[in-house]
Amino acid sequence: MIAWQEPLVDAVYVVAILVFILGLRSMSSPATARRGIVLAGVAMLAAVAVTFVSPGLSNFALIALGVLVGGLAGWYWARVVQMTAMPQMVAIFNGMGGGAAGAIAGVELLSSLGDPTTAGLSLAGAVIGSVSIAGSLVAFLKLQGWMRSKPLVFPGQQPVNLGVLALGVAFGGYAVYTVHTIWLLPFFALLIVFGVLLALPIGGADMPVVISLFNALTGIAVALDGFALVNGPLGDAGYAMVIAGTLVGAAGSLLTLLMAKAMNRSVGNVLFGAFGATEETGATIAGSMKSIDPDDAAVMMAYANTVVIAPGYGMAVAQAQQKVKELADLLEAKGVAVKFAIHPVAGRMPGHMNVLLAEAGISYDKLFDRDEINSEFPNTDVVLVIGANDVVNPAARRQGSPLQGMPILDVDGAHNVIVIKRGQGRGFAGIENDLFYKENTRMLYGDAQQVVGKLVTALKKS
Ligand code: NDP
Repeated sequence: MIAWQEPLVDAVYVVAILVFILGLRSMSSPATARRGIVLAGVAMLAAVAVTFVSPGLSNFALIALGVLVGGLAGWYWARVVQMTAMPQMVAIFNGMGGGAAGAIAGVELLSSLGDPTTAGLSLAGAVIGSVSIAGSLVAFLKLQGWMRSKPLVFPGQQPVNLGVLALGVAFGGYAVYTVHTIWLLPFFALLIVFGVLLALPIGGADMPVVISLFNALTGIAVALDGFALVNGPLGDAGYAMVIAGTLVGAAGSLLTLLMAKAMNRSVGNVLFGAFGATEETGATIAGSMKSIDPDDAAVMMAYANTVVIAPGYGMAVAQAQQKVKELADLLEAKGVAVKFAIHPVAGRMPGHMNVLLAEAGISYDKLFDRDEINSEFPNTDVVLVIGANDVVNPAARRQGSPLQGMPILDVDGAHNVIVIKRGQGRGFAGIENDLFYKENTRMLYGDAQQVVGKLVTALKKS
């Protein structure tokens, strides 16, 4: 290797790592998140580019082809994806990362079976990477609607899962012990089966937690691969993978814990508890649904002192955020105090509502987390629910409900509730919503963008 290349590669890796950390830091606030993404992307591009001048690298044409095909596919999908399909895209892209980590570990295993340290690290990377790709693919299929999204449970599920994992790891250990690559085949096959089994019982409200968990696992698999590579000819690239993987693993783990906390569940409970698997029996909802028209709803809000807007997935589907901003401005001009209640898992990705409302120019100081706003509902004149369902479903407080224990926005405690939705569609968890039948609830049917548009027109006239 020419002398100048080595310090160049090291210097670019160090700078890239610092920029990754800065990027991650910027992503923690919606105001700077866009800059964070760009920073992390540029750092990744630089790290990948400089790897081409690393020592010991061969097969340049094949690598360039892989980068080209993967880069073009990623660029295309990221451009055409609808905001509402982001969770599927995150799941499948993350799965690809897990698969790549598993494949790198596989190649390392083939060349290092005789070296217990490298083989052990690669084995661990292969276990986590395989589970991550298989689990992420199941999550993708469920979110895309190509597979039953309800939890799939069967008797003895946990012992079976554990048995498959143990058998898979045993095959891997045996491959290292006997230095026979053939045993790696059942090892990988069983771990893929384990990843699928692990994701099958996940459904309903647990999906966000699981997506971030698989994300964390991919990071850890990459870091383990990096440790295994450090001893090989591509040692420096190994360090970069260790650091990048550790960052993803740490950030993903923190996000997993935060999401689990928001759902009032432990991560173990999410993985092994099959939230939403219970079929509710005999729970009949008292009352009937009462509708309201846009003119009456506009009058009700115009005469209120306080209006809290609780947006959900339906607002994202309808792309109603600009109209919602117009509505909030008009109400404020009439002296109404307007706030937004943001549930951490509203929509289909963490921060989904914050991103949409920020895009519409609604200032952050009007957005309130569930913990901040829940105590205010009893003193709120009108809550306007826009396309939210699960996150405002009081069934979560009922014993035996599939949503039991999930913290919700307590909008039913407000004086009046207006719910905008198109018809009788259920939420992501697929269960009936008690809120719609309450005495103080009125249903305002229609597409969120059109209905909010009608509210805006009615308010302008009044
Ligand atoms: P839900 O998915 O529970 O409900 C959305 C509601 O919006 C539906 O009842 C639907 O009823 C209505 N809707 C759909 N399209 C429109 C439209 N164009 N105009 C008006 N209304 C519409 O949404 P929530 O935000 O309350 O809950 C999110 C759910 O998604 C939670 O269960 C969460 O766990 C899950 N999830 C969240 C993720 C995250 O990271 N945030 C990731 C994956 C899952 P109708 O058809 O009658 O209009």
